[in-house]
Amino acid sequence: LKGSADGMTATDKEIERALRPLSFEDFTGQAKALENLEVFVKAAMQRGEALDHVLLHGPPGLGKTTLSHIIANELSAGIKMTSGPVLDKPSDLAGLLTNLQPNDVLFIDEIHRLNPIVEEYLYSAMEDYKIDIMLDSGPNARTVQIKLNPFTLIGATTRAGMLTAPLRARFGISSRLEYYDAQLLTTIVQRSAAILGTPIDETGAYEIARRSRGTPRIANNLLRRTRDFAQVKGNGYINVDIAEIALSALEVDQNGLDEMDNRILLTIIEKFKGGPVGLSTIATACGEESETIEEVYEPFLIQEGFLKRTSRGREATERAYIHLGIVPPYKTGE
Ligand code: ADP
Repeated sequence: LKGSADGMTATDKEIERALRPLSFEDFTGQAKALENLEVFVKAAMQRGEALDHVLLHGPPGLGKTTLSHIIANELSAGIKMTSGPVLDKPSDLAGLLTNLQPNDVLFIDEIHRLNPIVEEYLYSAMEDYKIDIMLDSGPNARTVQIKLNPFTLIGATTRAGMLTAPLRARFGISSRLEYYDAQLLTTIVQRSAAILGTPIDETGAYEIARRSRGTPRIANNLLRRTRDFAQVKGNGYINVDIAEIALSALEVDQNGLDEMDNRILLTIIEKFKGGPVGLSTIATACGEESETIEEVYEPFLIQEGFLKRTSRGREATERAYIHLGIVPPYKTGE
């Protein structure tokens, strides 16, 4: 899955960790979400209570995991990490919950993909800090109730709409992360370059930033690849020229769209007369999962005005035609 942590090597993960901001102060952007979270964290600290459960939602790579670590740091609490698909059985969840210290954070990534039985278990844990555990089976089966330490569940999801209503209702705090503008991403690229010890000028940082699909994870990845080009093809210094060479070699176009973004638009225009066409039809034609198109590619294409979502399916906009150098169809009656 592009834009997620999947498929990353150990070194990639290590570097990603090194580039992670560790405090609210160090975190760039998402001002609205941060302002509220800082208040809630401070209030919980002052009362000596666990922070209310937090749902973080938005496209991949915008900082949900990073923010969860920051929240735990700011609470001076521990954090345990897991993800929805990994929690197979209630006992997996029980093992994690019973090991939490008072006011610790449990982070569940991809919380929209929880097994329904595990999810049901989570309800009483979130609400009353209690779980029922089944002992034995058959005629000896009985349940015992275990009291948990107060804790904060932080759930992250790219698909808030796929959460069940009872689960959503149990989060007292819900924050939506937005795509970053080029200015904020420039700051992030400059900060990351400093950590990596790579010299970069402002125009070089801006060029990488504005072509990163509004996403810090992509900005950091493009920075690292550009650093390789600067080292091998230049003198190690990143300026706008080296950035330009690296980005075109990586098939990131002038609008920051990558190869799959362009394939999606081109498919809609060339195979389906510009749409409207259904998501699963596009997915099959592009050789990509519907889910990935919907979670990773589409939100950005819609935000940037290349794609429209209508009741009859997806449509390419005039901007998409112009971007691809194709003459838009003449529309009658519009
Ligand atoms: P998500 O959990 O939303 O997929 P992550 O928290 O894993 O995203 O962030 C991906 C990468 O982007 C991390 O390496 C992190 O350092 C970086 N990152 C995300 N948000 C920011 C930010 N606001 N400032 C600096 N770096 C960020």
